[in-house]
Order: sequence, then C-alpha cells, then structure tokens
Amino acid sequence: MDMQVSFLDRLFDSGLLIDTGVDGLYGRSGQFEDVIAAFERLIDKVGGADGAEAIRFPPGMNRAYFEKSGYMKSFPQLAGTVHSFCGNDHDHLSLLQCMEEGKDWTKEQQATDIALTPAACYPLYPTVAKRGPISMDGGLFDLQSYCFRHEPSKDPARQQLFRMREYVCMGTEAHVTTFRQTWMDRGVEMMKSIGLDVEIDVANDPFFGRAGRLLANNQRDQNLKFELLIPVTSQANKTACMSFNYHQDAFGQKWGLSLADGSVAHTACVGFGLERIALALFAQHGLDVAAWPEAVRKTLWG
Ligand code: ATP
Ligand code: ZN
Ligand code: MG
Repeated sequence: MDMQVSFLDRLFDSGLLIDTGVDGLYGRSGQFEDVIAAFERLIDKVGGADGAEAIRFPPGMNRAYFEKSGYMKSFPQLAGTVHSFCGNDHDHLSLLQCMEEGKDWTKEQQATDIALTPAACYPLYPTVAKRGPISMDGGLFDLQSYCFRHEPSKDPARQQLFRMREYVCMGTEAHVTTFRQTWMDRGVEMMKSIGLDVEIDVANDPFFGRAGRLLANNQRDQNLKFELLIPVTSQANKTACMSFNYHQDAFGQKWGLSLADGSVAHTACVGFGLERIALALFAQHGLDVAAWPEAVRKTLWG
C-alpha cells in the first residue's frame, strides 16, 4: 500500500491540509500554521543572538537575476516563470474565443519580468553585491520565502509552493564553513527538542540531465551539501527537513561578492523546510496537537 497517499488523505480528512485539486498545492488550517509559527519562534530563539540581518523578499524575483543565477542550466525541470496577457482589444477577443473553444489560451501569454523564487536565498546575492564589499566580520542574513518548484507529487512533503526559512553567511572559507557546522549541530538539537528522530547525511541537488550527474557527484565528493533527514511518510526513505549548503566561492564569483580585503567571498546557506518540519511533527506525534507530548508542546509554545 502507498503510505504517502494515505498520510496525505489523513491530512485532508483532518483539515490540516486543504486539497486544491493540484498535487503539491495546498491550503493549510490555522492549526497547521500555528505549528509553523511556533517552530519559527524556536528558530528565532536559537539563531537570535547571532545578529543576522532580517530581509523578506516576495515569492517572485527579478527574472534577469534568475537568468544570471544559472538556475536554468542546473534545474530547468523545476523552474517557474510568471507570464501575463499583454495584448490589445483584438488579442483579448481572440483570447476569450480560444478559452471558449477549450483550446490552449496560455500560448499567447508573454513572459513578465518576474520568475518564481526557487530558493529563499536567490534574490539575496545580487542585493548584497550592490551594497559593495562585505566587512571582514562577514555578512549574516535571515530570510523566509515561499519557493516554487515544479515537482508535483502525492507526497505531502513534496509541495510545489512551500516556505523555506534560511540563514545565509558570506565571508571567508573558515567563517562560512564554521557557520554551516554550527547550524548542523543546532539543527540536530532543535529536532531532538521537539521529539523528532534525526540523521544527517551528505546529499546532492537534482541537477538536470547527463551533464548534471557529474555536478551531483562532484557536490557529494566535496561534501558541499548535507541534509537533516526525518521520517515523515516513510521510515526507509526519510525526508530532508533542513539542508546545509557550502557554495565555496561560486556565488561570490558569479555575483561579484567581495570582502573588504578584495578577496572573493565564500557563501553558505542553511534552509529549514517549514512545511516538512510541521509534517514531521504531525507524522511523529499525531494529527491532534492537543495530544502531543507535554515536553514537545512546552518547547514549541512555552
Ligand atoms: P529533496 O532532496 O527532498 O528534493 P532538496 O535537496 O531539493 O530536497 P533544498 O533544495 O536543499 O532541498 O531546499 C531546502 C529545504 O527546502 C529542504 O531541506 C526541504 O526541507 C525544503 N524543500 C525542498 N523541496 C521541497 C518541496 N518540494 N516541498 C517542501 N519542502 C521542500
Ligand atoms: Zn540557500
Ligand atoms: Mg529537491
């Protein structure tokens, strides 16, 4: 039996997730959102003293920056772009006629200047680059954004529009790799404190195509990506609820991020998958929050 379908159905039945008719696109109940809000407060508590600069971008980014990021080279299968009707009265009539006839009316839509944000940190690099050199103390940023990835699935932990909370660090190699290790340790402790079974493993991104396999192997061999895994829909195939990425100086080079001494900045980011963490809690402790272990409730709600 497919456990994923049944967990999704239970989430629908309980009202925690709301079916929209599209796999991976869900409404959420107040209770579901309350769990995410509580977990975000825990993140604030753990990371608060670090003095990160908080920035919030909308879930769409400048398409020119999206193009420059190279996302279409690595993950064309996941990308989403925003298109609009840009025609005149005559075009409008054809559009309505086309819809009336049940034909594909979307072909005439034109690309706008906006692409959907694929990861919370993407709009940050060009923003920081514009400010000029980063101080030798490094830069630390606190982000949260809806992200879009075209990966429709019946697995409730694989959504098309989901929220990612991120910390991004820019500085020397030593600085950003220490940052990443600190958050790997903190991530494990945080998940334990809310009663979740965790495991950290090396990982790779789903680079597209034949050339992508090489990139994925390289990323693994160099330990550039780690994931914090928690059982959500299956004990055997655990779900990545956090990821810890070291980009070396790749983004520094691409975006022109430099340190005050003129060297190219190294960057790293740690991301929390907020829906996945909420789902891990529901999978572990049950769909009724009132019945969760007292210690877990206390950690989340004081
Ligand atoms: P996976 O290997 O499961 O596809 P990922 O490697 O694509 O995950 P990242 O690109 O590192 O994940 O994204 C950062 C975090 O965002 C992940 O650790 C995860 O918690 C969350 N995330 C990624 N993709 C999804 C998705 N489709 N739905 C919900 N959360 C997601
Ligand atoms: Zn990131
Ligand atoms: Mg993925």
